Amino acid sequence: MKNLPLHYQILIALIAGTLLGFVFNPGEISLEKLSLTITPSDGGFQVSQENGAQDKEAYQFEDRAELLKRYPELKDLFAEGELEKPVTLEVTGRSIHIVDSFKKVELTYTRTVNEQSTVTSYSAPSGEALVKTYPQWKVDYELFGLGISQKVMAISKWVGDLFLRLLKMVTIPLIVTSLITGIASLGNAARFGAMFSRTLLYYLSTSLLAIFTGIFVVNLIRPGIGAVLPGGNGSLSSGQESISSIFLEMIDRLVPTNIIHSLGEGEFLSIISFSMLTGIFILLVGGKHGKVMTDFFQAGFEVMMRMTMFIISLAPIGVLAFMVYAVSSQGIEIFKILSWYMAAVFLALLIHAVVILPCLLKFVAQRSPLEFARAMSPALMTAFSTASSNGTLPLTMSCVEENAEISNEVSSFVLPLGATINMDGTALYEAVAVLFIAQAYTGEVMPLSQQLVVAITALLASIGAAGIPHAGLVMMAIVLQAVGLPLEAQGVIIAVDRVLDMCRTSVNVWSDSCGCAVIERYR
Ligand code: ASP
Repeated sequence: MKNLPLHYQILIALIAGTLLGFVFNPGEISLEKLSLTITPSDGGFQVSQENGAQDKEAYQFEDRAELLKRYPELKDLFAEGELEKPVTLEVTGRSIHIVDSFKKVELTYTRTVNEQSTVTSYSAPSGEALVKTYPQWKVDYELFGLGISQKVMAISKWVGDLFLRLLKMVTIPLIVTSLITGIASLGNAARFGAMFSRTLLYYLSTSLLAIFTGIFVVNLIRPGIGAVLPGGNGSLSSGQESISSIFLEMIDRLVPTNIIHSLGEGEFLSIISFSMLTGIFILLVGGKHGKVMTDFFQAGFEVMMRMTMFIISLAPIGVLAFMVYAVSSQGIEIFKILSWYMAAVFLALLIHAVVILPCLLKFVAQRSPLEFARAMSPALMTAFSTASSNGTLPLTMSCVEENAEISNEVSSFVLPLGATINMDGTALYEAVAVLFIAQAYTGEVMPLSQQLVVAITALLASIGAAGIPHAGLVMMAIVLQAVGLPLEAQGVIIAVDRVLDMCRTSVNVWSDSCGCAVIERYR
């Protein structure tokens, strides 16, 4: 195994992790159907629930808000005003899925009322806390939350996270030293300017291409028409946060007031802009002092790179652990509900990654896409399993330089900046997800003018998203707000975000790598 090239080792780990993940997937627990009777009483509500096996249970809720907190699926009951007489509803297709990762226990409950599927997630720091806060899940947790599969899932998450911590440990020193070295070795500031503008042009055009691919596919498949999301239905209202304020906030982040603080907090944009300025001013100062500084950062870079190579040799273990966790922690039921949405994201990502970017490689960078993909495969597979482009950055840098033979000047500049602001997969995902939500929420395809707002905000959201797992999901709030969609609508898609995150992160890293080939060609 040790003598096998790294990309084969990682591939084997990826496949083995997937298989083990299936073996250790605790699966979903199906619950019996339930009938709920809601009776208005004393200004509040009484709910009695009854199923075949158990006795009748009754709960009292003070008001509507309390009731809906526990039973969000009853939202529709009040659609036509207050409830006056008792109502009985059938709850079917009930299942729960538990994920325990030592630090957090999450329970997802899926059920159907009046043909509408609802998903609710409950989370607590531990099993005991979960049972205490949500006593209704006590029996289910004790039966299914303490099994061997849950343990395997938790251990693999811990091992995977440890690998990611190692990568993160070197990421910031690597960015700083490599960026400064890369710029300082350009020789003069004019060359930096030329490279900078070409790189930005590449980032912008590929992100926009990705967004338009996403918009095209989601309008073609229309996965949201007929789907039901939490937050109910309604129409679009005008956005709250203006695009310009989002943009200005991002510019602010380019100018750190305390670089030590930014380094400590891992604020990528601030670190990158400060390192770039340092590199440029080393060039401008030149002479004896310029040389001392260049040598210092060059030496730091060599040491960090060597440390990175060591950590990279552990990648197969990290990838194996992440795959076991990713596969074993997924509930199967939710995939059925969201299959068309997922298909739209996959298809659009696929078009961007295997058609559009390879065309750029072939015709602009004049490199063989297949060979380039092979050279990048360790980084792409690590991006896939870790869902973090920042975490993968050390691997991306070493693959681009060692396997794809791209100069350090280019890679040290294009990759760190790209890992932060060039996220084609994330940009595409934001557009598809928001248009899906809009379709489900309004029941129709969004007008073109609004789709344009989605495109622009999706671009900003992808620039602002950090290269860490689920960052895209967090940034989606900006896009949803811009077109006046409710944030709760995200509720359901969170359940499948990990899988989509893995795919979009690989596309993010792939686009950064292709960017290196393009910029190298015009160096
Ligand atoms: N996980 C992605 C990345 O690291 C960001 C995202 O959530 O879209 O590139």
